[in-house]
Amino acid sequence: MSRIAIGIDMGGTWIKSGIVDGDGAVYGARRTRTPQSGAEDVLAAIRSEVEALESVVRPQDRLVGVGVATPGMVDDRGYLNGAAVNIAGWEELDIAAGLRRRLSFPFVVLNDANAAALGELEFGAAKPRPGENQLDEERSVALINVGTGIGCGIVLGGRPHAGHRGIAGELGHLVVRPHGRLCRCGNRGCIEAYASATGIVESARELASEYAESRSEVARRVASENQGQADPALDPEILFRLAGEGDPLAERVRSEACWALAAGVAALGTTVGPPTVVFTGGVMGSAATIMPTIRDFLRELVLPHVHRSVALACASLGSDAGLLGSGAAGLRLGA
Ligand SMILES: [Zn+2]
Repeated sequence: MSRIAIGIDMGGTWIKSGIVDGDGAVYGARRTRTPQSGAEDVLAAIRSEVEALESVVRPQDRLVGVGVATPGMVDDRGYLNGAAVNIAGWEELDIAAGLRRRLSFPFVVLNDANAAALGELEFGAAKPRPGENQLDEERSVALINVGTGIGCGIVLGGRPHAGHRGIAGELGHLVVRPHGRLCRCGNRGCIEAYASATGIVESARELASEYAESRSEVARRVASENQGQADPALDPEILFRLAGEGDPLAERVRSEACWALAAGVAALGTTVGPPTVVFTGGVMGSAATIMPTIRDFLRELVLPHVHRSVALACASLGSDAGLLGSGAAGLRLGA
């Protein structure tokens, strides 16, 4: 019999699920819309997904557990502190208690970024090389998700690290520029305000007037936006491409984003000390072009030994990382 687990990856729009084996293969993958009608309906949807998958488990496989990845500050007991902003009613909730009443299998609840980090560690870009994996430190990883916001997952010694009351990994709201740009969290100068997709475009708009006299395509586009003619809208991908072509404003914007991300890596490298920091997310389509810059800035922010010892890598599992990681967490329940 092969041991398998059900992985559930909850997002604001979809609940994705599937059956995950010890090699990171998935079968029976499904998705269903995330109910926006309250926590009870979300819990019921998770139960339905588990039941649907249970019915397709192959006879040669043995289901050992269920891993549930959720957005938000969830602690090791499966309690969600605060709110997960994209799911209505998913707030200050004992998720574990709700699932205990509904599931007949061992289960574990973990933060979605921690699940993605665990997925990359078990099956993806942070998988220890042959000959490694002997020491706990080699089974550690930090993952930075750069999208509309900045998410962060941490695994220490093979274990997802939620921190006290789920507070670990809120890297996007680490202030790296005192008195800087206002962030959606209410503080100023957070990493997210400079390096998220929205932050990157915001930098271009904010700095455009300084480049009005230069031959900057980005400055020209901001000016046309300001006149109400949003010809090709600005997004990080366009900005990074123009930076590669030497547009001075785009280069500055890219540099500001990289500096903020490097400050995040510095915080992780210095406090957590993982062998690898993995980058993922929508903005990281341009990862190959920004990774060297992040590495260069990192040199100015940490001790030389830290700089040498922390590798930066691009995620390899894409949007499957959370599902695979929640499955990996479920598999351990049967260890
Ligand atoms: Zn913030």
